[in-house]
Amino acid sequence: MTTAEAAPESRSFEADVAKLLHLMVHSIYSDKDVFLRELISNAADACEKLRYEAVTTPALLGDDPQPRITLAIDAEKRLLTVEDNGIGMSRDEMVEALGTIARSGTKAFMDRLEAAQGAEGAQLIGQFGVGFYSAFMVAERVDVISRRAGSDTAAIWSSDGKGAYTVAPIDLDAAPARGTRVVLHLMEDATDYTERFTLERTVKAQSGHVPVPISIIEKPG
Ligand code: ADP
Ligand code: MG
Repeated sequence: MTTAEAAPESRSFEADVAKLLHLMVHSIYSDKDVFLRELISNAADACEKLRYEAVTTPALLGDDPQPRITLAIDAEKRLLTVEDNGIGMSRDEMVEALGTIARSGTKAFMDRLEAAQGAEGAQLIGQFGVGFYSAFMVAERVDVISRRAGSDTAAIWSSDGKGAYTVAPIDLDAAPARGTRVVLHLMEDATDYTERFTLERTVKAQSGHVPVPISIIEKPG
């Protein structure tokens, strides 16, 4: 059996992550647009990390040296995908980065959010930059498919944001050649984000100064 056929492994989120997700999804925060800023900023960070590592290891760039971020929309399937050709993550890096709260700022954010009421809590989400987990404000499931630069394996992380996630190896032809693809299975009330115009406007408003080119493509359903 090749590794790509191994069964998905199911794991629980660290207690703090589960708490954060619950707070965020149930907060009355209305400016859900920030999720796009967070995912684009992660994609841009990943491109920057690759650029940095490629200074000493140029081979990491292969035949694809230009950083890029691609937003793909599929209205019929209610999918929004944010893909980068940056550094990517190994399976273990995904478990670490997406299953625990590695960021010290997040802990402070949670304490404040818990204490905050209504509109104040809403403001906090905008102020702190709540990171990857903000995807669950608009998505009922998030799949993260990633292949680290220079690696010949890829993995998929998947969660409905309700306490657990799965990780599994995935065939290379189902993964980006390098980098990370974040697939948002949008909630019924978040289908606006599959409209090109809405997406363009949101990108402009939220991510106008990102130093990596961002393109939007529409996939037929
Ligand atoms: P932050 O960006 O502040 O570290 P996030 O919650 O936004 O926090 O992301 C958590 C971590 O997940 C990142 O630090 C990074 O290690 C990893 N990550 C998220 N998105 C990507 C991506 N597109 N490419 C590579 N790593 C990523
Ligand atoms: Mg981030």
